[in-house]
Amino acid sequence: MRRWFCLFNNAAVAAAAARARGAARVAVLDWDVHHGNGTQHIFQADPSVMYLSVHQYPFYPGTGAPTEVGEGAGRGATINVGLPAGAGDAEMLDAFDRVFVPALVGFRPDLLLVSAGFDAHRADPLAGLRVSDAGYRAMAERLCGVADLVAGGRLVALLEGGYDLGALSRSLVEVLEVLDRRGARAEEAAGAMGAPSAEGRAAVGRTLAAHQGQAWVEAGARGEEAASSA
Ligand SMILES: [Zn+2]
Repeated sequence: MRRWFCLFNNAAVAAAAARARGAARVAVLDWDVHHGNGTQHIFQADPSVMYLSVHQYPFYPGTGAPTEVGEGAGRGATINVGLPAGAGDAEMLDAFDRVFVPALVGFRPDLLLVSAGFDAHRADPLAGLRVSDAGYRAMAERLCGVADLVAGGRLVALLEGGYDLGALSRSLVEVLEVLDRRGARAEEAAGAMGAPSAEGRAAVGRTLAAHQGQAWVEAGARGEEAASSA
């Protein structure tokens, strides 16, 4: 039996519309717990739309391996981080810091779209990741920072999954507060989310390995060396 979760892919329609109206590059960051197989498929050969997803892996719908990196001219513009069940804030932020932020800074999108599902929340009944309300806030802060740095602050979040209504509403408010306070964000306490697990770090490392040779991977590695020797 085929299951259809979405009739229209809002993020993909928005990305295509922005391209048609003159945006040279658009990025879609997808933090829904399920891999966005439709968005990936639509843009996998298109170097002007970068698709970046963090999701539970392996998990429904089965796609989203770190080795899925795009095709043809779009090779390198599809970036998948598959986190193991049980991963939470620390592992999620590790993916942002080592993969998504450097990749987005390198890509310099004119517009950053966020497929903002909230089903990676620890209270969600459908999946097995353990992100907290504060974790979503930290993720949104990182993306706003990137959007301010390279996209003129142009960030649009589209609501996607989220099946615990309490967690959904709380986390959504956290994200909206971040979007509302552009330029006046409180710096999060360093290390407040803890250190990622070895399994989580290894999962993020598989994405870096799949994109070895990309300038943003080399730049990120140099940054880590500088941080560890400081
Ligand atoms: Zn989902």
